Amino acid sequence: MNWINNLVPPKISSFLTTRREPPDNFWHKCGGCGQMCDKKALEDNAFVFPCCGFHERMASDVRLKGLFDDGAYTMVPVKDVATDPLKFRDGQRYTDRLKAAKAKTALADAVVIGEGRLDGALVVAAAQDFRFMAGSLGMAAGEAVVTGMLHAVAKKTPFILFAASGGARMQEGILSLMQMPRTTIAVQRLREAKLPYIVVLTDPTTGGVTASYAMLGDVQIAEPGALICFAGPRVIQQTIREQLPEGFQRAEYLLSHGMIDMVVHRHKLRDTLGRLCRVLMSGPAVSKSADAGKGKKPAGYIKSMNGHAVDGKLVEKLARGSDVMEPEPVEGDARFDATAVEAREKAKRDAEAKAKGRALPRTS
Ligand SMILES: [Zn+2]
Repeated sequence: MNWINNLVPPKISSFLTTRREPPDNFWHKCGGCGQMCDKKALEDNAFVFPCCGFHERMASDVRLKGLFDDGAYTMVPVKDVATDPLKFRDGQRYTDRLKAAKAKTALADAVVIGEGRLDGALVVAAAQDFRFMAGSLGMAAGEAVVTGMLHAVAKKTPFILFAASGGARMQEGILSLMQMPRTTIAVQRLREAKLPYIVVLTDPTTGGVTASYAMLGDVQIAEPGALICFAGPRVIQQTIREQLPEGFQRAEYLLSHGMIDMVVHRHKLRDTLGRLCRVLMSGPAVSKSADAGKGKKPAGYIKSMNGHAVDGKLVEKLARGSDVMEPEPVEGDARFDATAVEAREKAKRDAEAKAKGRALPRTS
């Protein structure tokens, strides 16, 4: 920097400097491969890096805008809660931390609730903002989640939650931990009202949030590469002193281990959520086409949350669309049996070889 910066106050120096260089936040570095991408291109691509498909974290307002039709939604007001009843202070006063986070994000707290239309149908959605004190769950965030869920119950709409959190807000001590049972009870209210609750786990979802409402969805979706865990990989590695497997606690790892239902690319997320809401809110229509004219329900039928018999496989197929990552289906106890897996693979290979043999002209 030149000598003038040291002499002139910053406000005046901004008049003096010519704006040839791009602003500080113009280039974004890809967290996957390290390539640079400019802000505009990244925004146009829903914050997915075009180089390798790395999913960047998103602000709550951008998230909600991307979900609702034409980006239009109304904010659901959340009641004020007590600020810092414990008068907590670590290196800094908790009230000061809160003030700084509010100034940085222009948010009241980490969770924002929006109400709007998705594919024409009314839905209520919550987005957790990682920029606000790491999206931590305190009294205000808990109140927002509960308010959103009860609002969905009152309006009889599905509830969609975008989770992103470092866990419970330590500065609020037990009061933040109490949000875990509180939000869990609100999820129960949704269930009693037979309304779908869909969770989208984004990077990162950890701690008390994973241990409560973020894992209680009727359908659990995750974004590619998202870290989803209770205790993080570093903590686990230091505790057990063992090398952790590749991709441990990432969305794909959790999918292949049966912890979540699907991993959906951000570009397909809106469509998938729209389809899911439609299917889950129209239980009778789905079941009608499948078991028309027969009293007996075929195998594979589940009783859906809205109280009608719905073909579980059909719901899954409809929700997935075609391009969504799909795990290899495994039946019953076979998933725990290594020999069964081998046998299945051998059968698959044999079938492929047979099909190939048939396709080739026979030579004798
Ligand atoms: Zn990249």
